[in-house]
Amino acid sequence: MDSASSTSMEILNICPTGDLILRIGKECSPAEMIKCVLVSSETMTRLSPVFNTMLNGHFCESQLPLSSDHPPTLNIHEDNVPAMVTLCQILHQHKYARKLVTLAEIVGVGALGDMYKCQGAAEFWFHYQLLHRRISLADLSAKQIANIIQAAYLFDAEEVFYDFTKAAVTHVSFDKDGKDFAQGLGDVLPDEIQEALRESQVYHLMWIQAACKNLIGKLVDDKTDHACSGLEKRLARYTLALQRMRIRDRWSWIELSGPPVKQVADNHQDFAARQLLYEQSTRCQTDPCRSCSVDWSQIIKTEAAGFLKRVHGFCLTCIKRQNVNFTEVAENKCEEHELPSTWLADLNLK
Ligand SMILES: [Zn+2]
Ligand SMILES: [Zn+2]
Repeated sequence: MDSASSTSMEILNICPTGDLILRIGKECSPAEMIKCVLVSSETMTRLSPVFNTMLNGHFCESQLPLSSDHPPTLNIHEDNVPAMVTLCQILHQHKYARKLVTLAEIVGVGALGDMYKCQGAAEFWFHYQLLHRRISLADLSAKQIANIIQAAYLFDAEEVFYDFTKAAVTHVSFDKDGKDFAQGLGDVLPDEIQEALRESQVYHLMWIQAACKNLIGKLVDDKTDHACSGLEKRLARYTLALQRMRIRDRWSWIELSGPPVKQVADNHQDFAARQLLYEQSTRCQTDPCRSCSVDWSQIIKTEAAGFLKRVHGFCLTCIKRQNVNFTEVAENKCEEHELPSTWLADLNLK
């Protein structure tokens, strides 16, 4: 990065009292691809240790004659010119930083924030961008959820990382959308993350499977002293529903590989609602029948309400540590670090 003239280019004034012009773009790029921005060297060096080293260290850039009357030019060889301009606007709290950008652009800014080590100063912008787009998890694709996880990793935004890794476990079908998800995650995060998320999903589904077994135990009242014809029908119906939910096959409980947890929980709630109507019609002729008096609808509904509550997201501090044990992260909620929960809950997003 050496000084160069930018006299022929239009300069974007990000800081009216700026004393440095950043000429952003690849050296060989055509002029229209390059952007010049007027910034404050004090702001850049205070918020970015990388700029601080560049301008106050032993590099030749530290010899630049900073001045608001005749600001010198510093070449910044970046591919992603719009993202670098946005990052400068964010650091200067410029009003243009309020403009909403796409998820891909957020990730681009995150990558530069990470590179220039100014994530802390840019994190508020990341939250602002997410909050203002009224995200509904149900509307996000697997790739978009992964995009947000990648950005949260880059911006070091712990609560967003926690909430959206949790959202991946509850909402993403890795069998169906695994490729898109991997694309959305990019290549900055540890490779094992996606497998750990899938593992976490299977781990929670196994817990749900065990809960369903218990549920059947609760529904079958073995103290009934007569053969209840209704019980058989109700059991067959529930077993069929579990097959449709891919929790068991016709004959046995199967090894699970993946409907999203939310889908299983929702299907259970739907089933419980429909069961209410069905219960009336399956009553046997014996009166009173203990088995027929069990309220299946309510019991299933209550049990299913707990399915989502157990799911946890990943702790960013644990993920960023050396020699992270991904199986441990997948199966157990971190109890070592304080988890700043939860951004999604604040927005009342489900
Ligand atoms: Zn009965
Ligand atoms: Zn942790």
